[in-house]
Amino acid sequence: MSSVHFEVSGAVAVLRLDNPPVNSLGHELRRSIVDALARAEDDPAVKAVVLIGAGRGFSGGADIREFGTPKSLAAPNLHGVLRAIEECTKPVITAIHGICMGGGLELALASHYRIATLDAQIGLPEVKLGLLPGAGGTQRLPRVVGVERALNMIVSGNPVRANELSGTALFDAMAAGDLAAAALDLARALIAAGRGPKRVRDLALRLPNAAAYFQFARNTVKAIAGPYPAPLACVEAVAAAVQQPFDSGLKRERELFVGLMATAESAALRHIFQAERAASHINGMPDSVASRPINRVGVVGAGTMGGGIAMSFINAGLPVTLLETTQEALDRGLANIRRNYQGALRKGSLTEAGLEQRLALITPTLQYEPLRDADLVIEAVFEDLEVKRKVFERLDEIVKRGAILASNTSALNLDVIARFTRRPQDVIGLHFFSPANIMRLLEVVRGAETANDTLATAMALAKTIGKVAVVARVCDGFIGNRMVARYSMAAHDMLVAGALPQQIDAALQNFGMAMGPFRMADLAGLDIGWAIRKRRAAEFPNEDFSNVADILCEAGRFGQKTGSGFYRYEAGTRVGVPDPAVTAIIERYRETQGVVPRAIPDAEIVERCIYALINEGARTVDEGIAQRSSDVDLVYLNGYGFPAYRGGPMFYGDSVGLITVVRALSRIAAVSGADAGFWTPAPLLARLAREGKTFSEYRGSST
Ligand code: NAD
Repeated sequence: MSSVHFEVSGAVAVLRLDNPPVNSLGHELRRSIVDALARAEDDPAVKAVVLIGAGRGFSGGADIREFGTPKSLAAPNLHGVLRAIEECTKPVITAIHGICMGGGLELALASHYRIATLDAQIGLPEVKLGLLPGAGGTQRLPRVVGVERALNMIVSGNPVRANELSGTALFDAMAAGDLAAAALDLARALIAAGRGPKRVRDLALRLPNAAAYFQFARNTVKAIAGPYPAPLACVEAVAAAVQQPFDSGLKRERELFVGLMATAESAALRHIFQAERAASHINGMPDSVASRPINRVGVVGAGTMGGGIAMSFINAGLPVTLLETTQEALDRGLANIRRNYQGALRKGSLTEAGLEQRLALITPTLQYEPLRDADLVIEAVFEDLEVKRKVFERLDEIVKRGAILASNTSALNLDVIARFTRRPQDVIGLHFFSPANIMRLLEVVRGAETANDTLATAMALAKTIGKVAVVARVCDGFIGNRMVARYSMAAHDMLVAGALPQQIDAALQNFGMAMGPFRMADLAGLDIGWAIRKRRAAEFPNEDFSNVADILCEAGRFGQKTGSGFYRYEAGTRVGVPDPAVTAIIERYRETQGVVPRAIPDAEIVERCIYALINEGARTVDEGIAQRSSDVDLVYLNGYGFPAYRGGPMFYGDSVGLITVVRALSRIAAVSGADAGFWTPAPLLARLAREGKTFSEYRGSST
C-alpha cells in the first residue's frame, strides 16, 4: 500500500512518502501527497513542511507501469502535485537520501528548500527510456546547477552523487548524520528567520552566447545520439529554459515530452525496461520459495567459457575454484583471465590492486576434492555428452548435498545431463554467452526435474553477477540458438538465391543488427556449425544439410581464426573484406543446386531474416520454451545484437502488425516449394494475427 505518513513535530509537518520499493510516484501516492499538503496548509500550528522518503530512498520517480494508462493522467497528475508543492504558502523542504531520480528530483525541485545526504544519487534518467524529464526538470535543474551541468545530467541520464552538487543552489544544506533530524533543524531555522517559500522558477537563468552554445550542443549530441531522438529533444528543452520565460519553457518541455512519448524508439526502450522486470517472474513459482545461499562457486573447465564465467563471479566478489584436467590447460586459462584484466587495467577501468584482489579469489586445481564445499558448480567442458557424463558423475560423488550443479551446454539435453547425477532436482542449465564476462545475457535452463529453489537461486545469482537472466525450457538450442539457426538459414537461402554475404550483412546492419549473419558466423567460427551439420547428416541421412559454409570449411576457411571465411581478413585486423574467391564458391554452389540467381532487394533480405526470427520466437513461446515474448526479446537484444530502438524481434513484430508478418510469411511459403514448412506461420502467430492481437498482450500457456 502506498501512502504518506503525516506527523507533526512542533511547528513542522513531516510527510513521509511510503511506497516500497522506491517510492515511485504512482497515482495513490500522488493523491496522498496532495491531501497531506492540504492538511498541513490548513493546520495553523504548522509553519513548515518536510517531505522525506521512507525506506531506501526519497523517490525513484514516475511509476512506469502507469505509462500509457489512464492512471498516469488521473488527478492529481505529477504536474498537479508539483503545483501544490510550489504554491504551498508554507516553506516545503525536501529531505533526500538514497535515490532521487526522475519525477522524484522534479518534485524536489518544485519544493522550496532541499537538503540531502552526501551519498544520495541525483539524476534525471528519462532519456534512457527515450524521453525527457517532462515535469519541469529541464527548466528547473539548469536554474540551480547551471546549464552545462544540467545538460550533461539530462542528456546522459546518469546519476550524480549529491556531494558533487553541494555548493550549488540545488541544496540548501547537506546532512552528514541523521537526515530527518537535519531537515527538522533546517525547517526550524527557516521558521525562526521568518523565511517563506523560495521558488526555483523565480531564479534568473542567464547564459552568454546562448545561441552559439546550443548550436554546439546540438551538433555534439547529434553526433552521439544515433537513431534516438530524445537526446536532441533534451537540448531543445534546456535551450527553452534559457531562452524563454519559465512558463513558456515549461510548455515547450511538455510539447517535446509528448512528441517523444509517441516515438517508436521510446516505446521500444520502455518495453525493454518492463521486459527486464518481467523476466524475473517465473511461471508456476510460489512466492514462498527461498533461494539457497551461494558463497563459493566451482567452475569446471578453464577454456573460452570457463574463464569468462569465473571472471563474472570474481567480479562480483565471489570466490571461485577453477578445475582443469592438465596443468597446461589450467595455466593457459589463468593466463587468459589475467590478460583480460590487464586490458581493463590499460583502459583505466581497473586498478592494479583491483586486479590482484580479483585474481586472489581464484583457487586453481586439478582435483575435484576442493569443490566439495562449493555451493554451486558450473561445468564448461567440451560439448561432448560423454565428457559431461564423467564430470557430472564425479561432481555428484564429491560436491556436498544441497549444492547446485549447473551446465553451460549450448545444445546438449540438460535432462539427460541431470540424470548423470542422483540429484536431478539440483541440476540446472546456466547458458552464458561469449565472452561470458562481458555479455549480459544468461539463459537459465529449467530441466524437467529442476527444483523451484534451484531455479530461484540461479535467478538471484544472475542478479548478483549483473546478468539479464531469462528462463528457458529444454529444447535444441534453447531460445537464442534455436532462433538464430532459423535466421541463419533464411540468410543462407538469400545467399543461394542471388545475394552476396556483404549485401546481406549490410542490409541487416542497416536494419540495426550489430553485426550481419555472415560477419557473425566468421567471428564465432564456421567449424562449429560444420560439426553440427555433419552430426545431423549422420543422424538423418535422408535430409540435406549442405551449406556454403561447408565448402568454405573444406577449404580451411573457418572464419576470423584462420584469416578467412565468408570474408578475408588481413593479418592483425578483424574487419573482413569481400573475397572474390567466396563469390566464385557461391556461384558454383548455386549451379550445383540448379539455381538461377536473381537480384534481391535489401528489404526482402530483412523481411525474410527478421520474420524467420519472429516465427521461431512464436514457436518457443507457444511451446513454453520461453515464458513470454518479452523474454525472447531480451535474449535477442542482449545476446545477438538486435537493435534496442526496435525493442526486440517480437516487439518489432507487434509494431509492424502481426497480420503483416503472417501475410509476408504465407507469401514466402507459397513460393518456397520444399521449404514451405519453414515459412508457414507458427500457430500462435497465426492465431494472434487472426484475433488482431499482439505478442505483448499474450499471457501464454503456463509452462
Ligand atoms: P573450450 O574448448 O574453449 O574449453 C573447454 C575446456 O574444458 C578446455 O580448457 C578443456 O581442457 C577443459 N576440459 C575438458 N574436459 C574436462 C574435464 N573433464 N574436466 C575439466 N576440464 C575439462 O570450450 P568452450 O568454448 O569454453 O565451451 C565450453 C562449453 O560451453 C561447451 O559446452 C560449449 O557448448 C558451451 N558454450 C560455448 C560457447 C562459445 O561461444 N564458445 C557459448 C556458450 C556455451
